[in-house]
Amino acid sequence: MFETQAPRHDWRSEEVQALFALPFNDLLFRAQAVHRAHFDPNAVQLSTLLSIKTGACPEDCAYCPQSARFDTGLKAEPLLALGEVRAAAAEAKANGATRFCMGAAWRSPKDRDLEKVAEMVREVKALGLETCVTLGMLKPQQAQRLAQAGLDYYNHNIDTSPEHYGQIITTRTFEDRLETLAHVREAGINVCCGGIVGMGESSTDRAEMLRVLANLPEHPESVPINELVQVPGTPLDGAAPLDPFDFVRTIAVARLLMPRAHVRLSAGRTQMSEELQALCFFAGANSIFYGERLLTTANPQNEKDRALFQRLGIKPEGRAPAQEPGCPHPHAHQDAAAWTTAPQA
Ligand code: SF4
Repeated sequence: MFETQAPRHDWRSEEVQALFALPFNDLLFRAQAVHRAHFDPNAVQLSTLLSIKTGACPEDCAYCPQSARFDTGLKAEPLLALGEVRAAAAEAKANGATRFCMGAAWRSPKDRDLEKVAEMVREVKALGLETCVTLGMLKPQQAQRLAQAGLDYYNHNIDTSPEHYGQIITTRTFEDRLETLAHVREAGINVCCGGIVGMGESSTDRAEMLRVLANLPEHPESVPINELVQVPGTPLDGAAPLDPFDFVRTIAVARLLMPRAHVRLSAGRTQMSEELQALCFFAGANSIFYGERLLTTANPQNEKDRALFQRLGIKPEGRAPAQEPGCPHPHAHQDAAAWTTAPQA
């Protein structure tokens, strides 16, 4: 039966497109069945994202306010000091996050900056949080260095399909992205890799983006699915909005193709209704960014997320991977205490 098949890495285009074309209810039913086979359906992982170096990026990603090529009014800021990062991570933990993600707007890190980031990774881990960084393209030895520092996850999104990629970014290639992902894997770091929808791509592009991810030698452990947040001054400001049901379909197909990955409902939640977010959780999303900023764009307030989770009976997922006797969900042990005692942000 579909729901119990082992994860595959040989998806064909027509198979993935056929999933996108399923009647909505059939697609969601299948996605929910797969989700329940691998995860507690009522637990969602919480990550908090901090911009540790903002703006002045030489790349030309058409969605990004941090590119130096677009006039978005964003104020560039240098790499944060270690103490600032530690304080932000401690606050994220107190608010119930289990993973702390740090993003720097670089094409690729300089070795001296990488050393500073390695120090941040060590400090954040010492607080008992999982760590993730996104720093741009990495050389093999840089990935090794981050692994030595104890980094848990490296985020590097493929953004869109190989066919649509040139419409979005011209300063690096799709193959460059895959190369960095391979270096991250070789270093033994977990991979966080997804993309953005609502960038004028077709349904076939969305299918191809997910097919590339699912056909990697190993599925990414985290798959962020972002909805474009349109920022005035960026080339994609004014792009035709995506049908919300197509967003949910993308989540559902990601769940079907990568059954053991955490699928993260990422950027764009402020422009989604709570009903739409609930539909995404039903379709298999089981991770969110939690905290009021996503690098340079807004994110729902902590108390709004808490209230939504309460209404839906969703609990935050704890980070302990230990499995309780008889429990089929290795990720499901919830750290409800951290959630219920967290101060209001
Ligand atoms: S997405 Fe990253 S690489 Fe692209 S412009 Fe923004 S900060 Fe630079």
